[in-house]
Amino acid sequence: MYLASLSIDMDPLECYHRIHGCELPREDPGVLMDATLDTWLRLLDRLQARATFFLVAQGTKREHVQEILARGHEVGNHTWSHPYGHSQLPREELIAQVSRAHDTLTAAGAEVTGFRAPGYHLSALLYEVLSDLGYHYSSSQMGSWTYMAAKTAVRTLMVLRGRKSGSHSHPLTDMLAPVYPYAPCPAKPWQRSSHGEEGVIEIPVSRGPAPLSLPATGGFLFLFRAPRLLMPPSRYPLVLNFHGIELWPDERPLDPRILSSEFALRVPLARRLTIIEEALQFYRQREYLFLPLRELACAYQSKS
Ligand SMILES: [Zn+2]
Repeated sequence: MYLASLSIDMDPLECYHRIHGCELPREDPGVLMDATLDTWLRLLDRLQARATFFLVAQGTKREHVQEILARGHEVGNHTWSHPYGHSQLPREELIAQVSRAHDTLTAAGAEVTGFRAPGYHLSALLYEVLSDLGYHYSSSQMGSWTYMAAKTAVRTLMVLRGRKSGSHSHPLTDMLAPVYPYAPCPAKPWQRSSHGEEGVIEIPVSRGPAPLSLPATGGFLFLFRAPRLLMPPSRYPLVLNFHGIELWPDERPLDPRILSSEFALRVPLARRLTIIEEALQFYRQREYLFLPLRELACAYQSKS
């Protein structure tokens, strides 16, 4: 068997308003969880798959955390309020983003040992903060050049249309990050440490084979509908990353700029569910075993 994990980042609706330069929504910050969590949980039950939900603690209700845990999934830390520019935050603010979320999720009953950075980037300071807090793993790097190019293209297009995106670009050195789980070098966390550090292990979101190196994200799965293109080379662990919004209900209104920019939302919900089911079936036929990331980290470390 080969290791795989399915993770879902439950970014609040406000994040999409910020990315696409729209006015901020007036709704309760938990609206995305209310609108999509049950659909995700029912899909995972049908697939008999246990996953990792990365939660933004601000706006996450206690009952959301408890429902996720009761259904057998893992809860991970995705910061307090999802700052895209986290790598530019002063140390104290970054510590507060991680530890405040940790305390909130823990108080709701979760045992939190994993972290995912907003916008995919593990900075040296973030690595240090996670190590100090005793985290077991981070799943924050995304070394796909296609992802970086697509993000830059969207941001440039927005500037040309007179809009400003709230997302941030990250250093190109992230493209050098390994495609497999690794112990990062503390000063350059995109590199594998040569000293075998015992701290946080980084489990990058997968990228498919070169030259395309497509990111293993829901957006690219819904766009190309070709699970094969998202499989990492050499049967390294497959880490798939979805976002809560990708199961947004068809009938529920959303800002048209978000609807036109998110690939997933151009496809009817019933079809999106089928695409995910077929992808999982494809990977399972190739002997991938889906585990929450915490279990994948332990299994990978005991194998290597
Ligand atoms: Zn996020």
